[in-house]
Amino acid sequence: MKVFKFGGASVKDAEAVKNVATILKQYPDERIIVVVSAMGKTTNALEQLTNAFFYHNKNVETLLNEIKKYHFDIIEQLFPDKNHPIYNDVNNAFIELDWAIEGEPTHSYDHEYDQIVSIGELISTKIVSACLSEAGIANKWQDARDFIQTDNTHREGKINWELTQQLVNHSTSPLSPLHMERGKMEKIIVTQGFIGGTSENFTTTLGREGSDYTAAIIAYTMNAESVTIWKDVPGVLNADPKWFEKTQKLEQISYQDAIELAYYGATVIHPKTIKPLQNKKIPLYVKSFINPEEAGTVINDVQSSLPVPCFIFKINQVLASISPKDFSFIVEENLSDIFKLFAERHIKINMMQNSAISFSLCIDNDPYKLPELIKTLQKDYRVLYNEQLELITIRYYDQATIDRVTANKKILLEVKSRYTAQMVVKPASFM
Ligand code: ASP
Ligand code: MG
Repeated sequence: MKVFKFGGASVKDAEAVKNVATILKQYPDERIIVVVSAMGKTTNALEQLTNAFFYHNKNVETLLNEIKKYHFDIIEQLFPDKNHPIYNDVNNAFIELDWAIEGEPTHSYDHEYDQIVSIGELISTKIVSACLSEAGIANKWQDARDFIQTDNTHREGKINWELTQQLVNHSTSPLSPLHMERGKMEKIIVTQGFIGGTSENFTTTLGREGSDYTAAIIAYTMNAESVTIWKDVPGVLNADPKWFEKTQKLEQISYQDAIELAYYGATVIHPKTIKPLQNKKIPLYVKSFINPEEAGTVINDVQSSLPVPCFIFKINQVLASISPKDFSFIVEENLSDIFKLFAERHIKINMMQNSAISFSLCIDNDPYKLPELIKTLQKDYRVLYNEQLELITIRYYDQATIDRVTANKKILLEVKSRYTAQMVVKPASFM
């Protein structure tokens, strides 16, 4: 049994959706669980819709209509027959969305977010499933919330592994091997990435780009032979071509390196994805949906280190330096205070450094979270901060590589460990 994950770009238009069928036809005899993300940039659009709804902006209607139009344009291209049941299916999903944004918000922002944003995956999977059927690939659409169980941490649902495992194994679960043994036909199951359910039947999400993680959870609980993430790049590259020239594709990566790269912000794979796979030694393939016959990259149980330095680049960073107002040293008690504030607000610290009188840290410039955090910190601390910065991480660095990527940039903070160097820099245009 294999798990395939198709991300937003791989289902962004009618052609792309058809291509999913073309790829699956290459595996006629396999049992495959197909995990699908929301189409194209739908999650971003639904995030905007959530903001408009929650903060009472006027453009709710416009945003909603754009999302509907985008999906129905694709459906019309895929299913010229307007009586096809997919029209009804997707309409029903949109009715759920209408309900979610009706009246006043009744729960926290994060809770409302999950109910709204999850619709993207529910719709994309309906469309993919119908398109596969149309192409002659028997498949079953499966609601991921029926087996991916999380706690109540909205937007960052923590998996209840025990319950999820039980639900996957349960005799009535279409995922269960028993289902196949009983002679049920569908070798292909289509389900949503990114979303889960709580014991009170609310929807949660697993964090942005969480569909990879869903694929890993399914693979882990079902002891899959492999996971394949189908992407618009030929595999895992040593740097993002958006920022770096002359990137190289990596043939093979150890689980450890993949975890480190994802942790530091390489966007190819969601950071939580690797660990479950590593625990069961399930290989993860990253392959191109444009050239599916190419080898791509495999992440597996090798011991070797990477043959070339890897670069991770993050823009829109803020460097904050926090010091006690009374000019005393910064001590453990202060650090514990500070970390608590970050943890409560789910703000990730991308890099940090401590000195006698101040604690410096680099974070994403989140317009929703940052101003309030700084205000709270300022009650007890002096906070200096610098915006519009970049964070460069180099795994397997050497001085020459550091010099090359920081040329024309001013290094504000630098942290090095044995294999990894991180620098917060001010780009030339802002100096
Ligand atoms: N659709 C979600 C997102 O864009 C999950 C994913 O694509 O992995 O973040
Ligand atoms: Mg995505």
